[in-house]
Amino acid sequence: MKVRLHEMSWVEAKEYFTMNDIVILPVGSNEQHGPQNPLGTDHLIAKAIAEETAKRTGIVSLQVVPFGVSSHHKQFWGTIFVSPRTFKDYVKDVCLALEYYNVRKIVIVNGHGGNLAALTELAMELREKGIFISIFQWWTAARKILPELFKPEERGHAAAEETSVNLALHPYIVDMDKAVDEEPRKHFAKTEGITVPLDTLDYTSSGVFGKSTTASTEKGKKVFEAVVTELVKHVNLLKSAKIEDLIRKPKV
Ligand SMILES: [Zn+2]
Repeated sequence: MKVRLHEMSWVEAKEYFTMNDIVILPVGSNEQHGPQNPLGTDHLIAKAIAEETAKRTGIVSLQVVPFGVSSHHKQFWGTIFVSPRTFKDYVKDVCLALEYYNVRKIVIVNGHGGNLAALTELAMELREKGIFISIFQWWTAARKILPELFKPEERGHAAAEETSVNLALHPYIVDMDKAVDEEPRKHFAKTEGITVPLDTLDYTSSGVFGKSTTASTEKGKKVFEAVVTELVKHVNLLKSAKIEDLIRKPKV
């Protein structure tokens, strides 16, 4: 059975959408992940999680939306960023196109934390219109297992945690010879209770936050299995849920 929408014909899609009101939509970013990892890290991981979950649940996955909200990485070459508004509007149009084929439940697999605010705003907005969006993030789903596998300094952007998942999924585009360890700098303006609009370059020169040289394929595989297991549970739960129980309640 085909579980990638773009591999289906319209006839097969009609069959699927007549029987199912739920899909999986991976989104990510194309941004620097240190000298050893591919720019596509966030969208490639999201795609892999979405497609593996699709295989295990029979729920269709869409193509990944590759560009996200990541202008804070732009001084590192090849980072292709869009504004939060453009990102939100683009994902919204995709969701509305799905609604045309009676989809009411959309599980977004978000591979990049910088997209979360725009996605949350969209989910609230579309719930009003009767479309239920849930947002899955692998590092949150693996909250229990990650601290057991990685030390705090291995858990930052492009550090061992993320690099390990890349090694498990697509080792041929990870170059561990170029992996570095870099302790992030503390910006002088950052004091208790203060949020400042800093870029990645304000913290690190390599793009790595912490220790990346200790990345391991084995650990990456464990993380991937753990997060797919969680997502499968969620998709199955949503599959059988009634839309009336998910959308916004009317005023009392
Ligand atoms: Zn990332």
